[in-house]
Amino acid sequence: MVTSEDCMVMEKRYGAHNYEPIPVVIESAHGIWVQDPEGRKYLDCLSAYSAINHGHRHPRIIKALREQANRLTLTSRAFYNDRLPVFLKKLTGLAGMEAALPMNTGAEAVETGIKLARKWGYQHKKIEDGRAEIIVCENNFHGRTTTIVGFSSDPGTKNGFSPFTPGFITIPYDDCEALEQAVTPNTVAFLVEPIQGEAGVVVPKEGYLKRIREICSDNNVLLMLDEIQTGFCRTGKMFAFMHEEAKPDILLVGKALGGGVYPVSAALASWDIMKVFTPGDHGSTFGGNPLACAVGMEALDVLVDEDLANRASAMGNYFIKRLLKMKNEKIREIRGRGLLIAVEINEEFGKAREYCEKLKELGILAKDTHGQTIRFAPPLIISKEDIDYIMERFIKVLD
Ligand code: PLP
Repeated sequence: MVTSEDCMVMEKRYGAHNYEPIPVVIESAHGIWVQDPEGRKYLDCLSAYSAINHGHRHPRIIKALREQANRLTLTSRAFYNDRLPVFLKKLTGLAGMEAALPMNTGAEAVETGIKLARKWGYQHKKIEDGRAEIIVCENNFHGRTTTIVGFSSDPGTKNGFSPFTPGFITIPYDDCEALEQAVTPNTVAFLVEPIQGEAGVVVPKEGYLKRIREICSDNNVLLMLDEIQTGFCRTGKMFAFMHEEAKPDILLVGKALGGGVYPVSAALASWDIMKVFTPGDHGSTFGGNPLACAVGMEALDVLVDEDLANRASAMGNYFIKRLLKMKNEKIREIRGRGLLIAVEINEEFGKAREYCEKLKELGILAKDTHGQTIRFAPPLIISKEDIDYIMERFIKVLD
């Protein structure tokens, strides 16, 4: 048998050191639970950064994956396949958008959105070639490609990878005035997360999404929402923009669209925007493959059939209520919406990482971010009893 220790040593020996994982090896999983090679069980409070909203290995999603794998897996877009159109119809219907372009990872969806917005700006706003501007926010996280890290404000994400793609203007998050002031005749889009996930679950003031929608509309600027982390019921609605009916012009999705088993992402828009793409403009060998579509369709159906939006809302409220009740001096702040929750640890009581490592010892897997923040984002199928189980252990760790 390969032990946890063997796995960690071997990975360090043969793999690039671009992550610093919590020292636990996962070898199997079911629902909200994962297990290591020694048989220890842990409750997953990260959900692969919100990609496992349905729980690990949801039986319906695994069945869809198996059935499709036995029939057809990959065609490329050189040919049509029989799964892609049905998937696109379902996804666009659920999001209330007219068209979608399928990709694989979140970063690819973001890149797609950037290309879409720029080409729309050149065609529709008659912006001079090479001058299109996209407004982004401080502390954003949109992925890891060179273009995307170029407009990050986090030195750890971008340092050492220049030169960067020009054409991005950075403003503070949750600041409508800054947005109004940053718009120029060359602005094509405002790219923003409805809640900043990787920044430490930063929830903007009520009304922010609604107001940025208005500002974008008034200035003929596309509102491009990155719902790669907040989408698919995580915050208590199918999409976070639905809390304020701030429907974007371009919607970027990924993560949980793959049902926790396969990378599936997409950029969605109206036809007025999407039609700027013509054959040869954009593509992906794996994007829209039949296996991805079969998984994506089932993942969407499960979200609706199991009413996971309302579940995330109810369980999220209960989770936050339990946290607030603790009234522990080590906790500086509790933030969140639905089951995307952050607990910030007072600096004088150490780093969040130490708390996550202690939580692991007690069978809870959570991940620190930005030094002081512990993120709790369990699968949306979690129950009140499971949350009580987490709280019992979190109290122990705090004490
Ligand atoms: N956008 C947001 C808001 C994210 O949280 C992430 C990943 O954490 C990404 C984009 C990038 O997605 P991926 O890692 O699938 O490229």
